[in-house]
Amino acid sequence: MKLTVFGIGYVGLVQAAVLAEVGHDVVCVDIDAAKVERLNQGFIPIFEPGLEALVRENHAEGRIVFTTDAAAAVNHGEIQMIAVGTPQGEDGAADLKYVLSVAEAIGREMQGPKIVVGKSTVPVGTADRVRAKIAQALTVRGREDLTFDVVSNPEFLKEGSAVADCMKPDRIIVGTGSEESEMLMRELYAPFNRNHEKMIVMDVRSAEFTKYAANCMLATKISFMNEMANLAELLGADVEEVRKGIGSDPRIGYHFIYPGLGYGGSCFPKDVRALIRTAEDVGFDATLLKSVEDRNNAQKSVLFDKVLSFFKGDLAGKTFALWGLAFKPNTDDMREAPSRTLMEALWKAGAKVQAYDPEAMQECQSIYGQRDDLLLCGTKEAALRGADGLLIATEWKNFRAPAFDVVRNSLTTPVIFDGRNLFDPRIVARHGLQYFSIGRQAA
Ligand code: NAD
Repeated sequence: MKLTVFGIGYVGLVQAAVLAEVGHDVVCVDIDAAKVERLNQGFIPIFEPGLEALVRENHAEGRIVFTTDAAAAVNHGEIQMIAVGTPQGEDGAADLKYVLSVAEAIGREMQGPKIVVGKSTVPVGTADRVRAKIAQALTVRGREDLTFDVVSNPEFLKEGSAVADCMKPDRIIVGTGSEESEMLMRELYAPFNRNHEKMIVMDVRSAEFTKYAANCMLATKISFMNEMANLAELLGADVEEVRKGIGSDPRIGYHFIYPGLGYGGSCFPKDVRALIRTAEDVGFDATLLKSVEDRNNAQKSVLFDKVLSFFKGDLAGKTFALWGLAFKPNTDDMREAPSRTLMEALWKAGAKVQAYDPEAMQECQSIYGQRDDLLLCGTKEAALRGADGLLIATEWKNFRAPAFDVVRNSLTTPVIFDGRNLFDPRIVARHGLQYFSIGRQAA
């Protein structure tokens, strides 16, 4: 099928590459000319496992094309997929300016019938606004004869495993009231539906809401577990034992109940806030979601508070090794990452940071630029040298079994503050290191 994807970000690029891989003919369009230029030269702007090879192969074979030419792009695909950003606006609501400008471009440029598919995470009712925007643009042109439909098809990929998630989706949510659109969506996703039926068809509003409900549920699990962790610490319990104890109940399950430094990234924080705002708009006080957010904001400071208390409130002139900058492993994304809250608090207290991350160093550089109190190190060992302690903010695999003796000998003060509970406290203590983690007693 011929397909146009608006927005070449984490969602647009991965989804486009996967759809090209199964044989669809995809044109990707973005307003960021530099990004398009670099993609055409073979440079992949984000890190996702497996993405580079997928994009290169399909680009070389002509199944995926990158352009800034919206007119040509609109007239390529019978399906127009909108995968542009929906960042948080000033009032907490999702900012729809990018989505609506794509809708306007489609209405302005289309010459034949189109199915417009909303992939971006958008508040309930956005499909109606997209429909109105396209209709308005067609009226301006006097082309009300051109037909189109708007379908909601929210994306559930996870950064860090985005390619695998799109290749083998858990579910494909399709919101439409049209049989014709449903059949086109079935054709589009047929290659991903072979093992068993993944498509769940529902009305448009329910599909839009499903995405927010899913992210808010996951954020709630994280905040719940962080609350239990903070309590466990005060009660002399070990939250890691509690985690295993409750996860063994299949009604609870082991997934997404790891205590830590709170959720970050481009989705959970903004989506929780957007749903709180949507609720306000319809006169509903989403008290649970507000608490989820409050707990998360507080959790981002928990590790810093431990460091501050260990050094008796005086961090001026100290240097800390920081392992992990990305908001989670296997991505270079630092949007709302707990590492940022941590670094910024350390800097404010007069400390310096020597940081290492396997993928997010360039991203960190572009966010913070050159500064005297930030040294980006080439290896995790280099980050340790002469530091007053090791702080861990991301659970990258290669942080899980460090040479503890090297850690101890490199640090001026042999202490680890672990925001991801990577280690068994008894093992760390055996190597002569002090160890502070989340929801467990210090060792
Ligand atoms: P992103 O910021 O990585 O990419 C968005 C892209 O859209 C940018 O390249 C931008 O230049 C482009 N763009 C903006 N306006 C445009 C226009 N008028 N025409 C063409 N391109 C335009 O965003 P993302 O992380 O891919 O997220 C996209 C959407 O998907 C958001 O609504 C997000 O909430 C949702 N989502 C994200 C994830 C995730 O893990 N990142 C997962 C599921 C859903």
